Amino acid sequence: MEKNVLVMIPGPTPVVRSIQEQMGREIQAFGDPRFVKDYKELIDDLGKLFNCSGQTFPLAGTGTLAMEMAIANTTKRGDNVLIVSNGFFGDRFIDICTRKGLNVDVISAEWGSCVSPAEIEKKLAEKNYAVMTVTHVDTSTAVVAPIAEIGKVAAKFPETLYIVDGVAATAGEYADVDGMNIDLMLTGSQKAFGVCPGMFIVWAGKKALERRKALGTIPEYYVDFEKWLPIMENPGKYFATPAINLVWALKESAAIIAEEGLKARAERHSKHAKAVHKALEALGFQILAKEECRASTLSVCIYPEGVEDVKFRNCMFEEGAIVAGALGAYAGKAFRLGHMGNIDINTLVQTLGCVERSLKACGVAVKEGTAVGAYMAALAE
Ligand SMILES: *Cc1c(COP(=O)(O)O)cnc(C)c1O
Repeated sequence: MEKNVLVMIPGPTPVVRSIQEQMGREIQAFGDPRFVKDYKELIDDLGKLFNCSGQTFPLAGTGTLAMEMAIANTTKRGDNVLIVSNGFFGDRFIDICTRKGLNVDVISAEWGSCVSPAEIEKKLAEKNYAVMTVTHVDTSTAVVAPIAEIGKVAAKFPETLYIVDGVAATAGEYADVDGMNIDLMLTGSQKAFGVCPGMFIVWAGKKALERRKALGTIPEYYVDFEKWLPIMENPGKYFATPAINLVWALKESAAIIAEEGLKARAERHSKHAKAVHKALEALGFQILAKEECRASTLSVCIYPEGVEDVKFRNCMFEEGAIVAGALGAYAGKAFRLGHMGNIDINTLVQTLGCVERSLKACGVAVKEGTAVGAYMAALAE
């Protein structure tokens, strides 16, 4: 029998049975009226769920392709862009924008903290930026950006489109596209949506769609809004083959999210994240992100003195849960734990048990039940 290992990295995240079942369905043609109806409903449901009055594009590809789509449809060579970076994925926009020949300005925070709305406002006042990018939760630091407050700042600069990378956040942290003045938000299927990797979602607000129109012909092909707009209107038409079974899986995920409610889902994530932090601190770990900007979707956990990273993560795997290594300056010094999507108290109790046993195997004296005890106590508060 194959060993069952909980996938507790920051994406892919555990996939619940009802979503898996959609993956295992008999294939249908993309023009099959049953599939066309399902896809159309998904497009509309996702738009409503995240309050986007523009166009929602759920397409085949990963989060990185969604980042490229965002930039491709809102900028042209020579434009100024402001990148607000709280870590590795914020920096990924630098690469994408530089390759496109954009003039890139970056404001970054030290790893573990977050660029403030005031700093952003100061920078936006300096010159005309075509777009600004903000990473909702940076997966390298587990820092959450105050996207609603930044949206209030963005409203003062209507020429600058506000782009939010929600890949490790959307459907875990709360977001409201129109309500937060977001012009374009993007995410991937494999993170807080709890679907297998392979699809991304771009929510483009009205201003983003107008900007695309004003650009004329753009060099990019697959990610061009203009190519996809007729398909999003009538998914029975062909431009490029949709990921049929993933569309169904995403539809099931959207139904789960709608049933739970976006706000309730964000509150659940927040409550469990706080309890997980208490449990890890009780074991002697330190949480990298400062308390005022800690994400609910994942944690970067700095090892207690003397714990060897690879050994710890190998022990975790043996115990039945896989976690990720840390990035940048924290590689070898911390591990990353995903706690987003359709997981529950049982998943986290199991995982924290694995953390505790692995720590013990790495030579740290811990009293049995410390982590789970602290987690349960925090939840009961
Ligand atoms: C994972 C991630 C990405 C990249 O997504 P892929 O699906 O791996 O291409 C981008 N941004 C953030 C914040 C992420 O967490």
